[in-house]
Amino acid sequence: MMAEMEQSSKQLVQCLVCGEVFDAALGQCPVCGVGLEQCKPVQLSAPEGGCDTAEKFLILGGGTAAFNAAKAIRERNATCSIVILTSEDALPYNRPMLTKTLLSGASPEDIAIEPASWYDERDIYVVTGCTVTAIDPAEKLVACQGGMGFVYDKLIYALGARCFLPPIPGGDQPHVVTIRTVEDARRVRSLIKAGDDAVVIGGGVLGLEAAWALRQGKVNVTILEQGPQIMARQIDADAAALLTEAIAAQGITLLHNAKTERIGADQVTLADGSVLPAKLVIVSAGIRANTAVAEAAGLAVSRNIVVDEHMRTSAPDVYACGDCAVYGGLSYGLWSEASEMGRIAGVNAAGGDEAYAPVSRPLIFHGMGTALFALGDCGKKGLNYQVRELRRDGRYEKYYLVEGRLTGAILLGDISPMGRVMAAVLEGGTVEQVL
Ligand SMILES: Cc1cc2nc3c(=O)[nH]c(=O)nc-3n(C[C@H](O)[C@H](O)[C@H](O)COP(=O)(O)OP(=O)(O)OC[C@H]3O[C@@H](n4cnc5c(N)ncnc54)[C@H](O)[C@@H]3O)c2cc1C
Repeated sequence: MMAEMEQSSKQLVQCLVCGEVFDAALGQCPVCGVGLEQCKPVQLSAPEGGCDTAEKFLILGGGTAAFNAAKAIRERNATCSIVILTSEDALPYNRPMLTKTLLSGASPEDIAIEPASWYDERDIYVVTGCTVTAIDPAEKLVACQGGMGFVYDKLIYALGARCFLPPIPGGDQPHVVTIRTVEDARRVRSLIKAGDDAVVIGGGVLGLEAAWALRQGKVNVTILEQGPQIMARQIDADAAALLTEAIAAQGITLLHNAKTERIGADQVTLADGSVLPAKLVIVSAGIRANTAVAEAAGLAVSRNIVVDEHMRTSAPDVYACGDCAVYGGLSYGLWSEASEMGRIAGVNAAGGDEAYAPVSRPLIFHGMGTALFALGDCGKKGLNYQVRELRRDGRYEKYYLVEGRLTGAILLGDISPMGRVMAAVLEGGTVEQVL
């Protein structure tokens, strides 16, 4: 019923690139930024097999996995209690926007997945500023900092991940920041202004997004990449060289093979002895799943919390989803996958039967006066590849094939054909399909 009401007021579309379902009135995908031409209209059917009960559903975490779990439960069960516990002082928000709006200062309300009224209308109670410290799966109890406790019938563990801070001497100073929360983004804004110097440690997509946001605010930025090539896992050396040129053209310094020795009060020293001025240091060096509470409760953990295709953990009535979970040995650290895992956990906790089917998602980067799309195996598995490289219509295109079938693709510049390219790569099509 609620889903039907929602649909009648919104024209929902699904992004063909990242899978997000959103209101077309937004004009572009709120996660990956593609326009409506890369989206298709969708109609969400009312879920089957719902069952109203007086059960207590407790959801740990305030990210997209938690949000989608709560949504899926309420769509199937109008009468149960749903409580979300989050350590942040905000309702679930669009985390990918943090780096994309770093200096423009979007408030949590600006980037909220849904406004407060959405939770009120559905009787979903969100406890903000509440840090979970322990779970007792035998007694079905959850303990929080400050002495608060909650009982549950079904528990969804969606505590996400935190940024990894390598053990660099000086890394504990206030001007050394990782970006995971609105609070982190606020801290960046309080530390830097136009004309200042900043260092970004890490040349992955989030490091580049942060560097680009700072540069647009007229900050002097140096990016430190510890390897010989940026984004070495996702793109090949040719594409990386072109992106490196685009970065330089924006007045950003990118140093390869740059190992940080120590961080001082206003400078960063590299292993080769060079010294870079830095009023702000942003560290973007990957993530670590928040598993400590699960581990202490005896749940099976292998870096992340191990789940089956229904998002069930090793403990009865405890589900896990999102960045903290791992299914089939793979953990993506991607918004669309965390959202879908959350939905699947909610459906199954509420008595449904849906299995999670991971989808290969592309890397997308907008910034540095260009755009990058990369998907699949771009020559990384040591196979007998054929390569097709093209420069046309303001873009660089590179296709990787094995026995005539596409395994991966890279677009740089105008990436508007990405919907078509993605479909061809995912079905193992031919290069003729995209030319
Ligand atoms: C800056 C940035 C940009 C990104 N850009 C993209 C992008 O462009 N595309 C993409 O696909 N992905 C992107 N991602 C990744 C994406 O945001 C994550 O995959 C997604 O947010 C994971 O959702 P989640 O719900 O599993 O976990 P999280 O979003 O990490 O949410 C976990 C929640 O649990 C809370 N929590 C943690 N521990 C406790 C505790 N003990 N007690 C209570 N609450 C707790 C946290 O505060 C948080 O609210 C980006 C991530 C960041 C940080």
